Amino acid sequence: TPPDLIRNFCIIAHIDHGKSTLADRMLQITGVVEERAMRAQYLDRMDIERERGITIKSQAVRMPWELEDKTYCLNMIDTPGHVDFTYEVSRSLAACEGAVLLVDAAQGIEAQTLANLYLAMENDLTIIPVLNKIDLPAAQPERYAEELAGLIGCDPGDVLKVSGKTGAGVEELLDEIVRQFPPPVGNADAPARAMIFDSVYDTYRGVVTYVRVVDGELKPRERIEMMSTRATHELLEIGVISPEPVPAKGLGVGEVGYLITGVKDVRQSRVGDTVTSARDGATEALGGYQDPKPMVFSGLYPIDGSDYPILRDALDKLKLNDAALVYEPETSAALGFGFRVGFLGMLHLEIVRERLEREFDLDLISTLPSVVYDVTLDDDRTVTVTNPSEFPEGKIASITEPVVRATILAPSEFIGSIMELCQSRRGNLLGMDYLSPERVEMRYTLPLAEIVFDFFDALKSKTRGYASLDYEPDGEQTADLVKVDVLLQGDKVDAFSTIVHRDKAYAYGVMMAGKLKDLIPRQQFEVPIQAAIGSRVIARETIRAIRKDVLAKCYGGDISRKRKLLEKQKEGKKRMKMVGSVEVPQEAFIAALSQD
Ligand code: GDP
Ligand code: MG
Repeated sequence: TPPDLIRNFCIIAHIDHGKSTLADRMLQITGVVEERAMRAQYLDRMDIERERGITIKSQAVRMPWELEDKTYCLNMIDTPGHVDFTYEVSRSLAACEGAVLLVDAAQGIEAQTLANLYLAMENDLTIIPVLNKIDLPAAQPERYAEELAGLIGCDPGDVLKVSGKTGAGVEELLDEIVRQFPPPVGNADAPARAMIFDSVYDTYRGVVTYVRVVDGELKPRERIEMMSTRATHELLEIGVISPEPVPAKGLGVGEVGYLITGVKDVRQSRVGDTVTSARDGATEALGGYQDPKPMVFSGLYPIDGSDYPILRDALDKLKLNDAALVYEPETSAALGFGFRVGFLGMLHLEIVRERLEREFDLDLISTLPSVVYDVTLDDDRTVTVTNPSEFPEGKIASITEPVVRATILAPSEFIGSIMELCQSRRGNLLGMDYLSPERVEMRYTLPLAEIVFDFFDALKSKTRGYASLDYEPDGEQTADLVKVDVLLQGDKVDAFSTIVHRDKAYAYGVMMAGKLKDLIPRQQFEVPIQAAIGSRVIARETIRAIRKDVLAKCYGGDISRKRKLLEKQKEGKKRMKMVGSVEVPQEAFIAALSQD
């Protein structure tokens, strides 16, 4: 296809604003999917199958569209929907010239819409504002058209109104995509350069890589080079998705499609990398490549210690499909053998944990998530700490922690509570704008460590569920941070050590000591529980010893009852962990680590 007949675009929307439904409707209206084959959420269906490893994910679908006697080729590129994957979103946007900004006509703009809109603007995309769900009785198209127009600086009359459900306005939207979005530009005679915007592991075909060709042409059977690593591969197959994969004779300037080289690991086909021909290839990569950088670390342990090999194999498998996942073995006195695992953020952590539990039938416990700290000692050495147990001994000159730039959207009546919450999380207000008299956008910088845990839940409960949040990494800052240890009878319990701001150390210590006091059964002797910064104790609780007569009562009398008890105790013993001379059921540690 000649570039002037190509339009590459994405749809940006907050979750549930109807992106999948609209995408399905477009596939149907352009005839890519026949009406009778049309199932609700065609693209999402592919998603579920991909999880099971049987189909290629429809990351970029090609659709024909006729306007004024010309047949155009529209490439719809999917973007991941969540904050943890900002880099992937930015690469998907970089593969497009235009973005459809889709907003629910009954809800208005939300934080995720805004964050992605800013990213689209940074990538110089043309924006078409669209209100969706105009069929809903609760829709307020006029009101939200004003809001959208105010935000992107257009006339409220230019905001399109559609219903993905009924199809109303969707044909007009397709016409506007052709009219308003610029065609791709590139040099057809230059060496091939294509940007990878996604890569997915498929059990049968190996890694399927999604690319947008910028210059030149890629052809099947040629050798290609991944410019970040200089690794070369044979291009076994190249093609387009419409809506199933269709092999092609080549992909030229502005085209979007997939390629297969037979590699088995997404790390060999990295998002953001540039693909070129191995012979007479390009010398300069397209800009913007970044290694995935884990932001949050947590220990993952099987609750049943004998599951450790299953956990190891499961992580090895997941890694094939997830270039951002990193891990190494770790042992804990409290929890046994496990792994220290790095994630892009909390959602990524939850997804990985859920997949491990669901697909590999594992029961897992995760330790408190930790961000990455750089600790500089008095002798100028700097240690990168992803686990509180690596926190260096010795005099510390400074510690830096990662910071995010957050966007919060909420009804203006909640400004006060949001400010209070952000202040308590060491937030710094950058600015505030009213989208309308009733709705406000607040921008904050916040330490990542303060929001990874329960910030979103706190925000939701303070705003009766109305606030939405998005954030992106924004560098580092120095802060007055300390490591707090928890000790049982003088012995550190590694799984409970944490790094917190000095002002919050006391609260953490009191909370943990209190929890453990309730969870650890009494022993034959008194057990002190302490929380300490270095050698300075900041909180203390005591588990009192079992009194002799209680024991006597328990084991007196009926002999068979006594045997039963002893057997039970033996079984229980397997799950006991020793911390110094204190015997603790593993359940107590697990309960103390789970969030309430
Ligand atoms: P996504 O999360 O943005 O992909 O949103 P979905 O396409 O999954 O839609 C979210 C919900 O809104 C689903 O229950 C859809 O049936 C519903 N929905 C989507 N588009 C429309 C629409 O135009 N009208 C109405 N009434 N409901 C819609
Ligand atoms: Mg969806």
